[in-house]
Amino acid sequence: MLLLPSTLDNIVAFVKTSAKAKRPRLEICPYGTVTLIAPRRFSARHWQGFLRDNTGWITQTLERIDHHRRQAPQLHTIQPGVIHLPAVGATWHIDYSNQQRRGAIESQIEGGQRLTVRAGDNHEHLKHLNAWVRARAHAVLPTRLREISEQTELRFSRINIRAQKTRWGSCTRSGTISLNQNLLFLSPELADYLMIHELCHTVHMSHSARYWTLVKRFSPDYRLHESRLRHAANQVPLWAAGARQRTAQPGDTVIRLTMPI
Ligand SMILES: [Zn+2]
Repeated sequence: MLLLPSTLDNIVAFVKTSAKAKRPRLEICPYGTVTLIAPRRFSARHWQGFLRDNTGWITQTLERIDHHRRQAPQLHTIQPGVIHLPAVGATWHIDYSNQQRRGAIESQIEGGQRLTVRAGDNHEHLKHLNAWVRARAHAVLPTRLREISEQTELRFSRINIRAQKTRWGSCTRSGTISLNQNLLFLSPELADYLMIHELCHTVHMSHSARYWTLVKRFSPDYRLHESRLRHAANQVPLWAAGARQRTAQPGDTVIRLTMPI
């Protein structure tokens, strides 16, 4: 069930009372579900007042989510019909089935590739989709890193593929490079650049002037790539970024907010 409001003047919020909460707090999940975490002593009258006082922040946040959703609907759905992996130029058509055998099964179809996700519920199909992204990443990212390593003559010792939430990659002193599986959702240029960035850390660990001189040798446009990387999380579908849609839980009160015009 998706509770993202279709119009911003009709907002549904969950109220969760908490014994631990000292003061009321608002949360908006990346899918647009508004939750008020309220102390026990807070009454229904207080809820409405608190929400009204925070109307500005709520509408601004929901407008931002709504704008992003309209620009890239496929990144916001929890049941994608198509998955684009720009880094490898691949498009997958996704089918869902609740057959007994579980998992994500790849097949070829006319004009592309198909992935059939067999799962009992949303939670389970997201698990299979994420495991599949990881398998795709394992299939392609190490090969690409080795190619770039050969071109640049920057050696690394090991590679890890991870589902990191906050980093695109990292490099240890011993030369182990970790890459985020969600690099698959970036452009090939940006994914390549991230690998150059990490490979240069095998020579200079810190972001020193000498480090950037080395980066520039292999990627003259490194400043542009760095700034794009900072905003690149926007290109990852919410289901792959680990965002969970909050849904009503036992004990929640569901209230409908009517925003003042
Ligand atoms: Zn770095």
